[in-house]
Amino acid sequence: MNKFQDFNLKQFLVENLKSQGIDKPTPIQDMTIPIIMEGSDVLAEAQTGTGKTLAFLLPIFQNLDSESPHVQALIVTPTRELAIQITSEAKKLAANTDITILPVFGGQDINAQLKKLNGKVDIVVATPGRLLDHIRRETVDISHLSTLVLDEADQMLYIGFRNEVEMILKSTNKDKQTLCFSATLDSKVKKLAYKFMKDPLEMRAPSQNVTLDTIEQRIVRVSDRWKQEALFAELDSTNPFLAIIFCRTKRRVDKLEEAMSQKKYLCNKLHGGMTQSARQKVMKSFREARIQYLVATDVAARGLDISGVSHIYNFDVPEESETYIHRIGRTGRMGDDGVAITFVAPKDEAMVSEIEKKIGLKIPSSEYSRSTKDKK
Ligand code: AMP
Repeated sequence: MNKFQDFNLKQFLVENLKSQGIDKPTPIQDMTIPIIMEGSDVLAEAQTGTGKTLAFLLPIFQNLDSESPHVQALIVTPTRELAIQITSEAKKLAANTDITILPVFGGQDINAQLKKLNGKVDIVVATPGRLLDHIRRETVDISHLSTLVLDEADQMLYIGFRNEVEMILKSTNKDKQTLCFSATLDSKVKKLAYKFMKDPLEMRAPSQNVTLDTIEQRIVRVSDRWKQEALFAELDSTNPFLAIIFCRTKRRVDKLEEAMSQKKYLCNKLHGGMTQSARQKVMKSFREARIQYLVATDVAARGLDISGVSHIYNFDVPEESETYIHRIGRTGRMGDDGVAITFVAPKDEAMVSEIEKKIGLKIPSSEYSRSTKDKK
């Protein structure tokens, strides 16, 4: 398959892709689009950056019935930022049509959402908590779906959203198509997914390391005491175009961001303790490259597609090896080069071994050595 036209997509889709400069499907799109269009359930392992969002959005758009008064597709995603990103991709596909897409997530004015849900909505993109709110208030009806998508399915089914997702599933109709997309699908997640999917076809993007292959990974060994100094030395010697710096907790994000601001680094922060409007403001200025550094917790680890992120700094080693892959996948998008640097304190060694096992690679490392002038 060489062109999107070969899928017999509706003309407006081909045109709206073309106006974004997109004309050739990526491997995961090539594999999944024809099968999803036929109506099968699909369980797909595809890393972000492989084009997985369009892989589910295009068949959804292709199958929309313009006469239907119901919500026809529901996409559930773990973070608000991802919901915003998917909505924005969907809106680009819907340009010059009357297809309506409604993002539903916490932190937004619920009355404004209610008003919009009263109108015609074709596609809902939601985070689980706020969607459940609407389901309980009976202000959204998801019992006539053609397609349900669980994006980042491993997180949705496994790490904490499981009960919410199960309740959402109960409110949907049985005869819908279900698609699960995730960067990683281990056997535990697959077992859970099989409980509510109908004979799903399992698919993998041909090369699992598409994204990782284009990322130069490095480890800097440093004691906790000098971590901040080591980070600043890296930033000063590189002056990256756009970078995300990951910390383990909200408090550590606050602390590091404050220290960086004092040093006049162009930075801001993102974590779940901030108001929704503050989160959106920060993401917007980062996307527009008005700030150079985003200091964040793992809310920013998954699925976000921000063009131009050249560097990832793991100020703290992640607590799970999966998370490492998600974090560094924020760079090296769509074949661009990226650099990922992880600061490793002695207590982190066991986790590093686990990460290296997971990615099947020994990450080159160096020791941080303080320059003599600083050694007082
Ligand atoms: P995703 O993996 O869904 O996060 O997609 C990553 C980025 O790739 C998004 O910015 C898409 O707009 C872009 N993209 C998706 N499919 C294609 C394609 N076939 N050709 C070029 N860019 C694409």
